[in-house]
Amino acid sequence: MAFVGRGQFLTEEEEQNKPVVTLALIKRVMSYLRPYWKQMTLVLLAISLSSVLGIAPSVLTGRIIDEGLIGKDWYLLIELVLLSLGVTLGANLIGVLESYLNTWIAQHITYDMRCMMYRTLQRQSQKFFTNNNQGDIITRMTSDIQGVQRIITDTFSSILSNTITLIVALIAMFQMDWRLAIVGILVVPLFIIPTRRAGKTRWTLTREAQAASDEINGILNETLSVSGQLLVKLFGREEYEYERYEKVNKRQVRLNIKENMAGRWFRVFLSTTTSVGPMLLYLVGGYLIIFRAEGLSVGDITVFVALLSRMYGPVNRLLNIHVDWVRSMAMFTRIFEYFDMPCEITSSENPVAISKPTGNVRFENVSFSYDEERQILHNISFDVAKGKSIAIVGPSGSGKSTIVNLIPRLYDVKSGRVLVDNVDVRDIDLQQLRSLVGIVSQETYLFNGTIRENLLYANPEATEAELIEACKRANIYDFVSSQEKGLDTLVGNRGLKLSGGEKQRISIARVILKRPSILIFDEATSALDSISEKKIQEATEPLIKSHTSILIAHRLSTILAADEILVVKDGRIVERGTHKELVGAGGVYSLLYETQFKIER
Ligand code: ATP
Repeated sequence: MAFVGRGQFLTEEEEQNKPVVTLALIKRVMSYLRPYWKQMTLVLLAISLSSVLGIAPSVLTGRIIDEGLIGKDWYLLIELVLLSLGVTLGANLIGVLESYLNTWIAQHITYDMRCMMYRTLQRQSQKFFTNNNQGDIITRMTSDIQGVQRIITDTFSSILSNTITLIVALIAMFQMDWRLAIVGILVVPLFIIPTRRAGKTRWTLTREAQAASDEINGILNETLSVSGQLLVKLFGREEYEYERYEKVNKRQVRLNIKENMAGRWFRVFLSTTTSVGPMLLYLVGGYLIIFRAEGLSVGDITVFVALLSRMYGPVNRLLNIHVDWVRSMAMFTRIFEYFDMPCEITSSENPVAISKPTGNVRFENVSFSYDEERQILHNISFDVAKGKSIAIVGPSGSGKSTIVNLIPRLYDVKSGRVLVDNVDVRDIDLQQLRSLVGIVSQETYLFNGTIRENLLYANPEATEAELIEACKRANIYDFVSSQEKGLDTLVGNRGLKLSGGEKQRISIARVILKRPSILIFDEATSALDSISEKKIQEATEPLIKSHTSILIAHRLSTILAADEILVVKDGRIVERGTHKELVGAGGVYSLLYETQFKIER
């Protein structure tokens, strides 16, 4: 008796956030269905046919009773029984074809949408990914698009099949006897309205019980985690937490009992009301047969009862269509919102090709802010000539990483210009620009796979010899060859099977394989042991010498390897020069040197 299911009512939240359905939205939804119109026409035919055939056994029952059983015609009885079985089988087989076609269409449409969504997301700027919760992005890629599939397989086909079933049932009823047909129609709302009321009450209880269960899970997650328990213990909050837990636990018990009983009463109510319809038909039909001696037969009344019970489901389902409709439109609206997001960082329409990149970088009065509220960089200007290197130093949060992120256009400047080989980066083709810049970032990101796969990510065409050469230059070859599987060693999820130093050196090898003209090295602030650090230093120094390099330096050795030092504070370049000059100047750098770097010496 699944007449009233749990998801048949809109939640308050859904009610409040009802999407605005415009003709344009419907047209847009249709545009995704259009490529599959041929398959959809077939589905339409299959649904119509199986709905009509589905009604046939109910109608045949009348003839079985009247002509076969009461008329005692053995051969006709066999014929009708076989026909009824055949029709049922036929309807079911067509149903299978319909499901296949439906799933096929839904899968293809969601495939199209998923691909489009992935492309849209790939084109988004870094800002999008820092501003949006990763969970939300993934939900939209998976659940929302899965929702679309459900709409197509369930909602669309159910509207169609239920409407057809209902129409056929009504036609059959009116053809047999209009008086009984009217009784039948009047009985349906008598049943539907109260069951929907009761269903709603039960649904509210279910939701309350669910909320209590979520709350319990929240408390458990919070207080039984390692850090949560530590907090509870250190602040002596055991009793408080216990009471909090007990209270919700008790509430859940109460709600669960209430919900279960509501469910039980609901079933009692449902089975009683469903039997009212047939009884009424028996009474009215019986009256007509007994007192009016009308041309009605016992079989006719049985057919009416069978048709009536076939009508409840479709009527109820059709009454719920607005819920499905609101949900599906909300889902499409959410998906389209993503599709319509403007891409903040795109390639210039007429890009300037850099035929022989040299790797010269220049910042001209660059100002930048992530949002409207706070300006992060103020009038930054500097120049790194081909093959030269600069070290950027400064307190944490002063804007060092922000400066380098502007070079490969992870973000765009608010004013001023960033130039690579004397061309504004916004005028260079984005693909080419990014191929010119190699970044070894503070937090090394390796994909779950082998060392080889991670290296090939930078250059899929690299030969075995090139891979080995890169590993050697990155000072990681000893480690690789000491592993049983060599380059085919698995690095684990995000490279967790490797030490911080090993990961960094693999990411250096990866950058070497990319052969960039400009090297950006964002030195890790986290402490590595001195051997690891030395190995990294040995790997990076020759690279710095052979490339135009920008180093965000946290260690004296890296700073000393650079040709010039820029000292950044609060988004401004406050000092520049060589180590010797800056130490002598007695400014920010000399303070940093005294407090931070001198210890290294
Ligand atoms: P560290 O040495 O600690 O890495 P940093 O000098 O590299 O620091 P940045 O990462 O450039 O500093 O950050 C400069 C400022 O910009 C900080 O105040 C930071 O909070 C802010 N910031 C960084 N990234 C974002 C972002 N995506 N959105 C908004 N603000 C940001």
